[in-house]
Amino acid sequence: MIKKSPPEERIKVLVIEDEESFIDALTVGLSREGFDVTSARDGQQGLAMFNEGHFDVVLLDLMLPKMSGLDVCRSIRGSSTVPIIIVSAKGEEVDMVLMLEIGADDYVTKPYRLRELVARIRAVLRRRRDTEATESDEVIALGNIRLDIDARRCFVDGEEIKLRKKEFALLRLLLENPGRVLTREVLIDRVWGSDYVGDTKTLDVHIKRLRTLIEEEPKSPTHIATVRGVGYRYEVAKP
Ligand code: CA
Repeated sequence: MIKKSPPEERIKVLVIEDEESFIDALTVGLSREGFDVTSARDGQQGLAMFNEGHFDVVLLDLMLPKMSGLDVCRSIRGSSTVPIIIVSAKGEEVDMVLMLEIGADDYVTKPYRLRELVARIRAVLRRRRDTEATESDEVIALGNIRLDIDARRCFVDGEEIKLRKKEFALLRLLLENPGRVLTREVLIDRVWGSDYVGDTKTLDVHIKRLRTLIEEEPKSPTHIATVRGVGYRYEVAKP
């Protein structure tokens, strides 16, 4: 019996384009390259489809009926970081600076070769993946506090403050659990483990020092709240 390998996750592309010949060629060509193609014929329809579905990348024509490519791009950027590749027609006046400013990732000019387009799609997806990995793995940012995990650096309002190893670990743990009460036991166990010696005051001493470093008013803290008799909680800023 032949074992079927699980189907590879196909990359979902939304093509927003009003020229039938381009839609057909793209649908055939990109499908053959392993992409899953959905197409919209005008700006409004494209935006609606984007908001209803899930797409990995958007190919966006500039000159579109009902809603221009620029407006579609702006609107998508209001809610999503999906990679957007702008497609412009030859001879069309294109303001590249404006396009990048409103959040396009790349652009191609018609007529283009399918291979070139595929290469660009893969490149923006790769870039996006790299940025996401960097953001989620190495940096925790909450309110005015920013922790660079790998470099073990801490910034408050953009200014670096020096933290000792345990202070950094403690602040990291609090920031990773915003709004949640962390009991003294959990904090001690996760930050010190079996290193914890002395009385239970050690934790409070560290909290006190963290407050002097990150709070505007260490005596009436707004970031690290005491939950009496239980532990501490990192307060999420109120809107
Ligand atoms: Ca067009």
